[in-house]
Amino acid sequence: MAKILIIEDEIELVKVLRSYLEQSGYQVIDAQRGDKGLALWERHHPDLVILDLNLPGMDGLDVARSIRQKEDTPILMLTARVEETDQIVGLEVGADDYVTKPFSPKVVVARVRALLRRTAGERTPEPVIRAADLEIDVNAHSVRRGEREIELTPTEFNLLLTLASQPGRVFSRLQLLEAAQGVAYEGYERTIDAHIKNLRAKLEKDPKHPQYIETVFGVGYRFARDPEA
Ligand code: CA
Repeated sequence: MAKILIIEDEIELVKVLRSYLEQSGYQVIDAQRGDKGLALWERHHPDLVILDLNLPGMDGLDVARSIRQKEDTPILMLTARVEETDQIVGLEVGADDYVTKPFSPKVVVARVRALLRRTAGERTPEPVIRAADLEIDVNAHSVRRGEREIELTPTEFNLLLTLASQPGRVFSRLQLLEAAQGVAYEGYERTIDAHIKNLRAKLEKDPKHPQYIETVFGVGYRFARDPEA
């Protein structure tokens, strides 16, 4: 489920957009201030940001710039200014598309869908990830070790994919929870340990001495950089 962050100070507009987006199967989080929105973006890494231009706390353009300095999260700008210059400036800072107010929420949903489709095409990860004798087929959602097919739950698969996509990178429990389930609540980080335990039981030759998924004490987990078959 794709996660959409709405940064917009008109609360009625947020409500309408939220309702349309949720009906279309998206998960929605929102902020009414630019600075708060940026903080939410950093914490949740949404799949797309709907960003108002005029915001209290931090201007929409500055929010877009800050996001762009770090990641290429697709940004759909909402603008009440009809002047083309503003729209162009919005696109120059890295917004991917814009909608001028007033707009139909259906139009916004259609733009969101189109943007996500477009950017998904650009960012499709390696279709098959190989590490030692492990083979993860991203599109088929299947995992093999040697000749053996390993049955994983969707949560376990997402966890493995997240970790194995960036070998050596340490992920916190909260990050993994979010990657695996699309949402993470502080205080529930430890549930990830149970998922990792199950994943290791299925994946590892000796779950007590894991070769693929390493524990980083006090931090979280990482996929081994060079696992031995
Ligand atoms: Ca506004």
